[in-house]
Amino acid sequence: MSSPKQIAIVGGGPGGLSLARLLQLGDKTHRYDVKVYERDLNSEARIEGGSLDLHVGSGQVFIDRAELRSAYEAVARVDGGYYAMYTQELERVWHMAVPQHPEMDRYDLRTMLLDSLKPNTVEWNHHLLKIDVVGDKYALWFKHNQESPVYCDALIGADGAFSKIRAHIAPAMAKPTYSGVTLIQGELLHPDTQCPKMLSRLHRGNMFTLGSRGRHFGLQQKTDGSIIYYASFKVPEHFMEEKYGIHSNEQVDQAVFRLAMLDIFEGFDPEILDVIKATDRLVVRKATGLMYRSTLEDRWTNFGERKLPLATLIGDAAHVIPSFAGQGVNNAMMDAVELAEELLKDQDCAMAFSAYEQRMLERCTRAAQMTEVFEDAFHDEKDNIATTTKMFAKVGPVKLDDRWKNLLD
Ligand SMILES: Cc1cc2nc3c(=O)[nH]c(=O)nc-3n(C[C@H](O)[C@H](O)[C@H](O)COP(=O)(O)OP(=O)(O)OC[C@H]3O[C@@H](n4cnc5c(N)ncnc54)[C@H](O)[C@@H]3O)c2cc1C
Repeated sequence: MSSPKQIAIVGGGPGGLSLARLLQLGDKTHRYDVKVYERDLNSEARIEGGSLDLHVGSGQVFIDRAELRSAYEAVARVDGGYYAMYTQELERVWHMAVPQHPEMDRYDLRTMLLDSLKPNTVEWNHHLLKIDVVGDKYALWFKHNQESPVYCDALIGADGAFSKIRAHIAPAMAKPTYSGVTLIQGELLHPDTQCPKMLSRLHRGNMFTLGSRGRHFGLQQKTDGSIIYYASFKVPEHFMEEKYGIHSNEQVDQAVFRLAMLDIFEGFDPEILDVIKATDRLVVRKATGLMYRSTLEDRWTNFGERKLPLATLIGDAAHVIPSFAGQGVNNAMMDAVELAEELLKDQDCAMAFSAYEQRMLERCTRAAQMTEVFEDAFHDEKDNIATTTKMFAKVGPVKLDDRWKNLLD
């Protein structure tokens, strides 16, 4: 039975840190020496993105297995579970409170996970560049030291949607594909002065507006009081570049970007357009899926010979799914739960990886399918209001406003 001692987890996002926590907690015989290699300079690095809600059947399963319930409850915001849906003219259709879906900021989540690990588990400023196979070990080469690598016996890629390790394990499944929806992320740092009326609509939670031509504009308040919004619409992959000269991953003139957004959301209520005008920072985030529209299993099983036998992937590295149903972080944490369970059994490491991958594929295929339903409803060009309302009615007790009270009949 091969029993690796040194396990390297590359990527200190929710997936990688959750796995490290569970392995350290459950490994009573000190079988493993777990290290996490993260490219961020230190634990204070800013983490982009809105807050996250850990679902009862997945993210919160991790919380309990990791014995972090009280730390989680100390930072999770119950008022973050408020949702309201509006038309593009800002007429409210329904609202609801789902207290079992509290929101947690990404930074708070990382801090909670880091605090749960043994000292020096995470090696910061370790940006993986490449991997070599040396005998029965892997040599990991990092950017800051290209003279000598770090060695490990088994490797777990938790390095996110654009994983380097994925390409090493299986070159044929290296690239996520565009889902058909472009997502723009906007931030307002001082909404109390920039858009106080909109702020009051959020009730410290979430609101979204659905408009004609399948356009969606959703806002969320974070713990520090700032607002993050995601605006999304169905367009060809290179629409933002071709129509407005706006490229992903590049410094973009923010004034030009705001004008582009005003053009895209033309016809929305002036209060939404004022939010766009007041936005501090806009970024393009195209919705991508590695295994999208039911191709998940195909991508994992049909990629030919596996190049690194004692390596596997978790989180977005394994199965990036667009964010429309809030599945990403929850499945990253369930990956950690299931992989830790398999690694802590008395079985060969390759068998543990294979058993985990089977479980992960089944679960994430369901998550990808659910995401497709949400994505289609939000961007439905004919009847996004009715389809989205019906979908949310399955999530919680939607309270329809008077004019819409027959919407669910
Ligand atoms: C716009 C948007 C909105 C989202 N909203 C939600 C939501 O509401 N709910 C939800 O559940 N999910 C949401 N997600 C998805 C969620 O963010 C991810 O699914 C989740 O963060 C995945 O966790 P992870 O640990 O697998 O990857 P990541 O969070 O991406 O972490 C990967 C880590 O690896 C590090 N890394 C990357 N490359 C290297 C390298 N070469 N060497 C060393 N380190 C490396 C990165 O710095 C990072 O810390 C959203 C995603 C996007 C883009």
